[in-house]
Amino acid sequence: MSAAYLEKLNDRQRSAVEHGIGPDHGLVGGPLLIIAGAGSGKTNTLAHRVAHLIVNGADPRRILLMTFSRRAAAEMSRRVERICTQVLGAGSGVMTDALAWAGTFHGIGARLLRIYAEQIGLNVDFTIHDREDSADLMNLVRHELGFSKTESRFPTKGTCLAIYSRTVNSQTPLNDVLRNWYPWVSGWESQLKALFAGYVEAKQAQNVLDYDDLLLYWAQMVSDPLLAADIGGRFDHVLVDEYQDTNKLQSSVLMALKPGGRGLTVVGDDAQSIYSFRAATVRNILDFPKEFSPPADVITLDRNYRSTQTILAAANGVIELARERFTKNLWTDRQSAERPKLLTVRDESDQANYIVEQVLANRETGMRLKQQAVLFRASNHSGPLEVELTRRNIPFVKFGGLKFLDSAHVKDMLAVLRFAQNPRDRVAGFRLLQMLPGIGPQTAGKILDAIAADPEPLMTLAEIPSPPKSGDDWVRLVELLQGLRRSGWPAEIAMVRTWYEPHLDRIHEDAETRKADLLQLEQIASGYPSRERFLTELTLDPPDATSDQAGVPLLDEDYLILSTIHSAKGQEWRAVFMLNVVDGCIPSDLGTGTTHDLEEERRLLYVGMTRAKDSLTLMVPQRFFTGGQHAQGDRHVYASRTRFIPATLLQFFETGTWPLANPTTAERNAQQIRIDVAARMRDMWR
Ligand code: ATP
Ligand code: MG
Repeated sequence: MSAAYLEKLNDRQRSAVEHGIGPDHGLVGGPLLIIAGAGSGKTNTLAHRVAHLIVNGADPRRILLMTFSRRAAAEMSRRVERICTQVLGAGSGVMTDALAWAGTFHGIGARLLRIYAEQIGLNVDFTIHDREDSADLMNLVRHELGFSKTESRFPTKGTCLAIYSRTVNSQTPLNDVLRNWYPWVSGWESQLKALFAGYVEAKQAQNVLDYDDLLLYWAQMVSDPLLAADIGGRFDHVLVDEYQDTNKLQSSVLMALKPGGRGLTVVGDDAQSIYSFRAATVRNILDFPKEFSPPADVITLDRNYRSTQTILAAANGVIELARERFTKNLWTDRQSAERPKLLTVRDESDQANYIVEQVLANRETGMRLKQQAVLFRASNHSGPLEVELTRRNIPFVKFGGLKFLDSAHVKDMLAVLRFAQNPRDRVAGFRLLQMLPGIGPQTAGKILDAIAADPEPLMTLAEIPSPPKSGDDWVRLVELLQGLRRSGWPAEIAMVRTWYEPHLDRIHEDAETRKADLLQLEQIASGYPSRERFLTELTLDPPDATSDQAGVPLLDEDYLILSTIHSAKGQEWRAVFMLNVVDGCIPSDLGTGTTHDLEEERRLLYVGMTRAKDSLTLMVPQRFFTGGQHAQGDRHVYASRTRFIPATLLQFFETGTWPLANPTTAERNAQQIRIDVAARMRDMWR
């Protein structure tokens, strides 16, 4: 008799779960690829596979599970734990230290690098730069090389970093990157090469890594056969979700960890590949089977369990027109009379209003706020909605949107912690030293130079006489930095805050509100086991923003979800609203340049639509604010609905004919008639 948890699966899901596990082969089978469309149960199957391994005796500490976000990893661990507890009983203790190695590629890379730092000549106290820090460092190097002054048309620091990052992640020679992706940046090849060499050197000298380095160093580390065997040997099983969004470096790491592919399972959907702007390549998943000899087993799934038939039809209608696609259309037996709604409203304020009304109406029918989500193309699109939700006291959580991390005072605090961790980190050092009165860039640069080469930089710092006009402030800073070493985590963050507050009062007028942020930062920090883990995780995957920050408490844990489409990957809600489903937004103006970009925008819309289980509402404001997207600055544009969705698969509504949840049948019929007329008229104008 087989376990109950396997009986809920369909035959193909089950064969994926059991692949390579059994009396004939023990626990570790050959490489496996599960490739299938949205909502077909890929992630669920992967979770069952992990649980099945553990139930059959695999050691959870020797399972490496990589997902695209920390949230996804946590969710997967919960599912695995639930199944294991059901089967093995709560007292089994199998999962007490659970899946210790579940996380993102970057997060896992950072952890491995700390473990192996010494062996690869890396100082274990390295700090990690986020994109903004990286751009700042790029800028510093650019100034040193004199490119910015003499060459006014030299690409901006952001473009330089993007080119660098593309080169690293795609493992493509710079000249090809420029030709293929940055044709307008021509004639600067030799300067860029010098700049990138300088940037790499600066990072090494300062003991800092950027995002790309986490993968690059990891790949470098496993290119050594001994280290590869050692690291690969830590894990019997390596499983990766959302494989379509990995890049060349990530796949090379996997291949080095598990040459031959034994114990390797990857899962994904080529139609949901939406990270090519970070050099992710769909070739990874398409070429996976051929990487091995004999080739990997491939399992496809064709039944969607998530969405109603009408939602699935609309999503299929979008993706069917894609140029290239491996996964086939899905089917479902979830019938529904209602097609997805497309609602035309006047502007973004009407859009926000409508959504709030509808969300509340849904709630009246028993759908919790948590079962509803609002998705958008770019993070700044949810502004008007956030204002409206706050005004009406409706709690919400915005995925990855913790804006206060970008504010100057929070960055100041983090700079202190980073500098304490790694006094060679110049971007952090510059920020910290210039908080003191009397210290400008030049003095800061000199101080940092003086301590740079020292094995004990903080000791040297203490010996440097106070710069003129810095007096007591200098002494207090030195005391703080020395004190931090003794105080331990998380006590040290309160010390930093006490030290920083007088500076805050001096620098900022609205110091009181900012102090509240610092308290909140302290609270977040205390949830992490160490300073290093806090800094790493905050940099790699910022926590979610809650409406608490806008003064709306998260009542009884129920809250509406706000998310970019990118961050909504892999998730599902009963009701999904999508903002600004208009040409210029999705596809984005910036995404219509090449067929390749346009195709990615199409997949992005597909990802968004396939998050919905029961109801999908696409919003089309006729006028919308483009935020800071345009070089000319903020402006409004007049928009029409996205070109991607075939009209016949939707129901059209306009202001004044707004549907509310669960109308009576008579109301519904009346709406239906209006809708069909509207749809027909639109089709005529198209
Ligand atoms: P995505 O491509 O969006 O990541 P996915 O393929 O990973 O989707 P899951 O999130 O694993 O799909 O599953 C989608 C939904 O279908 C979940 O609610 C899951 O519980 C449900 N589901 C999956 N398999 C089955 C099954 N055999 N029987 C019933 N429900 C299932
Ligand atoms: Mg999934």
